[in-house]
Amino acid sequence: MPSTATDKRRLQNLKSKLRTAQNVTTALHADSDLKNFPLENIYQGWNESSLQRNTEFFKSVQVVKDLKEKIQIKEKELESRERENIPRGCECPVCYNWLSPSRKLDCPHSFCLRCVQRLYNAAENKITCPECREITSKTIDQLQTNVAMERAIESHRIN
Ligand SMILES: [Zn+2]
Ligand SMILES: [Zn+2]
Repeated sequence: MPSTATDKRRLQNLKSKLRTAQNVTTALHADSDLKNFPLENIYQGWNESSLQRNTEFFKSVQVVKDLKEKIQIKEKELESRERENIPRGCECPVCYNWLSPSRKLDCPHSFCLRCVQRLYNAAENKITCPECREITSKTIDQLQTNVAMERAIESHRIN
């Protein structure tokens, strides 16, 4: 299970990727015919033909946007983790929040209900474990709670 230090390192990596992407975007912006539109409001200058003329530029704008969103989510996760001081093993391996309410898959892995709902593939009625890739062919209602885990979490939260 990743530690907070690993997460911090990942966050740093994302931030350095963002800086690189921002430099690329700034350079492409200066070269484009949209340089009179400020980068913050670049979609004001957006239309079909500007998109065709500046495909690379708009791609890089999107990359920056995606990275910013990812960083925001990771920062929030880290914050909530540090605030609540969740002990290792009591956190969901996907979102790092408390592993409660929990759901067990057919493999040895458990996740929080929110993540299981996100991982559930309704069209194929299956969940692919993000840790080991094993497939659980059940609906969310058919999944069991990880009782031992929830007891451990309860005792941590009381103490
Ligand atoms: Zn989760
Ligand atoms: Zn698994």
